[in-house]
Amino acid sequence: MAFFKKKYQSKKSRARLGEINTAHGQVKTPAFVPVATKGTLKTLTPKQIKEIGVQLSFVNTYHLVVSPGVDVIEKAGGIHKMADFNWPLMSDSGGFQVFSLARQNFKSQITNIKKNLNNKNQDNQRRADIRGEESPLVKKISEDGVKFRSLYDGRLIEFTPEKSMEYQMKIGADLNMAFDECTYYPATYEYTEKAMERTHNWLVRCVNYKRAQAIGKKQGYSFFNKQYLYGIIQGGTYTDLRKKSAEFVASQPVDGVAIGGVSVGETKKEMRKQVGAVAGLLPDDRPVHLLGVGQFDDIIDLVKCGIDTFDCVEPTRLARMGILLSFSDSNKIDINKGIYKNNLEVVDKSCGCWVCQTFTKAYLHHLFKQKEILGYTLATYHNLSVMEKFMGHIREMIGKDLI
Ligand SMILES: [Zn+2]
Repeated sequence: MAFFKKKYQSKKSRARLGEINTAHGQVKTPAFVPVATKGTLKTLTPKQIKEIGVQLSFVNTYHLVVSPGVDVIEKAGGIHKMADFNWPLMSDSGGFQVFSLARQNFKSQITNIKKNLNNKNQDNQRRADIRGEESPLVKKISEDGVKFRSLYDGRLIEFTPEKSMEYQMKIGADLNMAFDECTYYPATYEYTEKAMERTHNWLVRCVNYKRAQAIGKKQGYSFFNKQYLYGIIQGGTYTDLRKKSAEFVASQPVDGVAIGGVSVGETKKEMRKQVGAVAGLLPDDRPVHLLGVGQFDDIIDLVKCGIDTFDCVEPTRLARMGILLSFSDSNKIDINKGIYKNNLEVVDKSCGCWVCQTFTKAYLHHLFKQKEILGYTLATYHNLSVMEKFMGHIREMIGKDLI
């Protein structure tokens, strides 16, 4: 079965219906991809995740390398088996976390830069100062990759294109990302261009590494044949770099294409502009993933650019704060508010998930006020159910040429 199959092309835009076929099942696209960072979709059991209808979820390589470690995951038979995730999984390259770690200590400088945006001379210097090379946690950023100390146990961890591939093979997710440098925001043109070129070189190394593994197979990664590689488009907020990157990535022998380095602090308008800039350069015959974006309005707008899958932590993160997504009440309600204390209505009449059929707003309000663990589970279950229903509507609308 083909890895990706385009099933229908909207007559109105670049929006399309498709299917991604993996050894762990099929994903009907466009699809939302909830984030199970450390190999757990926080507060939910695998049984509940299945029941909600989640088709594809995301795991973070950096976090899994730090704990429990890729060797124990491999010995356990991969993360699917270890976490009882019997559905397709996507893993990132680790690049995003590795580089945001490098920048974490420089948040105050970023604030200063934003304040001084009008003073260009100072600004360029200060922007250069926050690149991360100076961070005490990161031992070395080079053309080869990144070396840094784990925040958890001080262990020296190395991320190179080859290491990222090796880690992802051991984790065993079906869809893998090539190692990339996610540019921060704001960043100078010069730095963004350098990071983009580095990302392109690293993509070639990832492709070569996978090819060598396929020929040799002697390394014995039992899951190898079932894993697919996505190249990542970078280029920050510079349209010409974005286009250059899209052309390069699409020209590589990759199974899919991802757009990275968006939603890192720039405005929504800017983010959409950058995705729009590469829309015409995205491959027709391969799946396209957008990293880190997943609000309702963004999804509606960006499926029109030909995006097939979206991962985002927001629906699950909001759930743990008591913010429930809603089809009716201006997209979300805060269940912590006193007005819900005696409200015996269901959470969302138009949702109809198990939570909405069974529990009242007053009960959820009570659970959150008492910080009861079940509250987080019910809210997460509901929010992901809303996302699944929402994506179902999107697919229906594409099929009717309404998007
Ligand atoms: Zn619900």
